[in-house]
Amino acid sequence: MLLQPSGLAALRRLGLHEAVLARGARIDHLDGRDLSGRAIMDMRYSRWRTGAFGVGVQRSSLFGVLHDAALDAGVDLQAGTAIAAVDDFDAPRLRDAQGRTYGPFDLVVAADGSASRLRSIIHPRVRATVYPWGAVWANAEDPDGQYAGRLHQRYDAASVMIGILPVGRDSARQPPQVSFFWSLPVSGMDAFDAFEPWRDRVARMWPEAQPVLSQLTPQGFSRAIYRDVSFGRWHRGAVVMIGDAAHGTSPQLGQGANLALLDGVELAERVERPTQVAGYQFARRLQTAPYQLLSRLLTPLFQSSSRFWPWFRNHIFAPLSQAPGLRGHAASVLAGSFRLGPSPKALRP
Ligand SMILES: Cc1cc2nc3c(=O)[nH]c(=O)nc-3n(C[C@H](O)[C@H](O)[C@H](O)COP(=O)(O)OP(=O)(O)OC[C@H]3O[C@@H](n4cnc5c(N)ncnc54)[C@H](O)[C@@H]3O)c2cc1C
Repeated sequence: MLLQPSGLAALRRLGLHEAVLARGARIDHLDGRDLSGRAIMDMRYSRWRTGAFGVGVQRSSLFGVLHDAALDAGVDLQAGTAIAAVDDFDAPRLRDAQGRTYGPFDLVVAADGSASRLRSIIHPRVRATVYPWGAVWANAEDPDGQYAGRLHQRYDAASVMIGILPVGRDSARQPPQVSFFWSLPVSGMDAFDAFEPWRDRVARMWPEAQPVLSQLTPQGFSRAIYRDVSFGRWHRGAVVMIGDAAHGTSPQLGQGANLALLDGVELAERVERPTQVAGYQFARRLQTAPYQLLSRLLTPLFQSSSRFWPWFRNHIFAPLSQAPGLRGHAASVLAGSFRLGPSPKALRP
């Protein structure tokens, strides 16, 4: 995934910024082209701020850094424990799938993702709609750094979106990696099993991707669907939701993990007592709501079978986002710094 300057600021606050930079790959430029090679999207962090950059990182690297920090902080981690129920929201106790109970706790932070079980317990009527399009993705090696420095994307209208993102290395022994992704309708994810014809087709569309394509196997792919999560209160009593559980969206702007990191840090800084979580939600919404709205609006420009939206992207949206006077704002949205109010000082990217 791509970490933005906003998410890097949250990691800096946690003292984990250097550890993530060491495992990630610096990204300066989002370079999106059509199949003829014509530039469509050309976004650069330097247009927002000189010297700014994003970091492509493997999920396992980010997880490893956060996990080690939790252990160092003396957190009592209980892995393999699916939480199935909450008893008494004001002094919450948790129950797992085997019926074991935990707590009572002063505060329970539900960070169980866009398909959150805890959300369905707190708000049984909330529906988190699945986006019609998802993606499959796999990692490959890039030993010579052929793809370094950029998020590369190729589009054919909005029905084809292919991407290659450098994501660094999990350990010194691993060669530098890239993540390859392919967008497709959720209804067609099973048909993706016709692997060889698909790979030949992608190689014809994007010959420069051949070194990555030649490493891919059907077993190496993960499937991803996205949910649009939007509802009223993120908390009930002393149980509060953060990350995708509270505000999941499509990854079109590459912000979800960054917003989740900021949620965690701001929750720790703003909330000393469970009674303060409403103020926390108000403050975070000033940032999460505009990003959710923008992601929702932008998704059909990049993932749909529409003919109008890719036309709109190529002829209106992309030129506007690169126009002098506007391109700095577009880069600031990409950097994750947009917010309808000031960021806490320590979290300013
Ligand atoms: C294809 C794709 C590309 C993306 N690219 C980017 C990107 O470039 N940049 C970016 O910032 N974001 C990106 N995102 C979004 C990002 O992955 C999410 O926003 C982020 O992972 C949300 O973090 P989270 O901790 O809230 O939830 P998750 O990462 O979903 O973690 C939830 C955790 O809760 C656990 N869990 C679930 N249910 C239970 C339960 N009942 N009991 C106990 N544990 C439970 C799960 O096992 C999981 O470990 C992308 C997403 C996708 C699908």
